[in-house]
Amino acid sequence: MGEQLTDLKPQKVFEFFSELTRIPRGSGNERAVSDFLVEFASKRGLLAYQDEFNNVTILKPATTGMEDAETVIMQAHMDMVCVADDDVKIDFAKDPIEAYVDGDYVRAKGTSLGADDGIGIALILAILDSEDISHPMIEAVFTTDEEVGLGGANGYDVSRLKGKRFINIDSEEENHLVIGCAGGIRCDVLSKCKNQKVEGNIYEITINSLTGGHSGTEIDKGSANANVLMGRLFDLLMKNAEFSIGTFSGGTKENAICTSASATVVVKKKQSKSFEKCIKSFAESMKSEYRKTDPDLNVKCKDKGKGKLEVMSTKDMSKFVALLNLLPNGVAKMSQISEMVETSANIGIVTAKPKNYNICVSLRSNKNDSLDWMISRVEMLANAYNVQFAGRCRYSAWESDEVSDFARSAQQLYMKMFDRDIDIITIHAGLECAVFSKKIKGLDAISIGPDMWDVHTTGEKLSISSTEREWKYLLELLKL
Ligand SMILES: [Zn+2]
Repeated sequence: MGEQLTDLKPQKVFEFFSELTRIPRGSGNERAVSDFLVEFASKRGLLAYQDEFNNVTILKPATTGMEDAETVIMQAHMDMVCVADDDVKIDFAKDPIEAYVDGDYVRAKGTSLGADDGIGIALILAILDSEDISHPMIEAVFTTDEEVGLGGANGYDVSRLKGKRFINIDSEEENHLVIGCAGGIRCDVLSKCKNQKVEGNIYEITINSLTGGHSGTEIDKGSANANVLMGRLFDLLMKNAEFSIGTFSGGTKENAICTSASATVVVKKKQSKSFEKCIKSFAESMKSEYRKTDPDLNVKCKDKGKGKLEVMSTKDMSKFVALLNLLPNGVAKMSQISEMVETSANIGIVTAKPKNYNICVSLRSNKNDSLDWMISRVEMLANAYNVQFAGRCRYSAWESDEVSDFARSAQQLYMKMFDRDIDIITIHAGLECAVFSKKIKGLDAISIGPDMWDVHTTGEKLSISSTEREWKYLLELLKL
């Protein structure tokens, strides 16, 4: 029997984390963990309230001698992304996560671990639980549905909060102190189509085995997007053969770079040879073009034989292909203050049938103005092609052009405590700080967290030693 989670240090932190691994808390299923937090507070005589979104707020008064210090809001999210390996049988609605210790890491057996953001919750609970840690008045805010559009934070009523100093514990790199993040929106560009039946040779074209990645934090890697590659292939094919598109399906997540797309098409019989040749040479040139970022890139074309296929009209098809090629994708603008992407786009999911299509582009920017401009560009393009446009799930950027005194002292404190560097950065992804900064005027927020890797995957792992440093750091941060 190996080392148990509850044997680890800081002991209270890992005890609470271990307790959290036994409570189901996939996004949308947070009732149990929310009730657990309310019960935690009531057992300790702490004032707590739970709202209709299952967000929980726990108040803990300042300890003796700290009554005059500034109130601190500490925040983390309850929900986790639940993913399992194909061969793992688990019902995330009721089964626990099997976490285990592996050297300096905590991992889970065949599933995501939920250190994002369970360790944030555990760190805060350990402080709320303590009787010997000195701290100012704490307003602990635990939110829901972060992973699926920041639902809890968006619904949260901030009117009862008094603090202006805000510590979010949902970052994944110990040597980063985050002071800004991107806003975003999902845009649907869609249209109904005229359909028709066309006779010829039917093919299934597949582009897959791309590297993919997070559409925000990994967009700067320049890896291929299967939806975009397919659009590019269609453009080539249109110049070389008479063909029509029956169906198209690419991507499963709006915030992931699309790794696989497939389409069913029909080609005039006598052009089959040149059609196949065109795909073959496209495959070769893409393999070479993306040899560094996507070494496994694969373009396949399967002959399904002669037949009649229901397809979209030629006019609708040319619009669809034009939009796939013209809609923004990838890095749109770099930051003026750091080597960071400021504005980007990702064509995450595309679906097409003979009677309609939908191209979903997710846009991000660390500047709200720049995000507005990107939305305009997509809308203008939709208007120019006379197709529909709809934006949804917009969230604001957490903009920061200046480093606050609090962030600066937090940086100096870390460097003094551990004799290591910590960089003040902004990230090209979303954080709940954006929502709270918009709702609370003059909020002075930072986001921190211990080292973890491969979150949202079954390889998720948390560093134990980093968690221990983060704990010590947090205790000193509360005294700043
Ligand atoms: Zn998170």
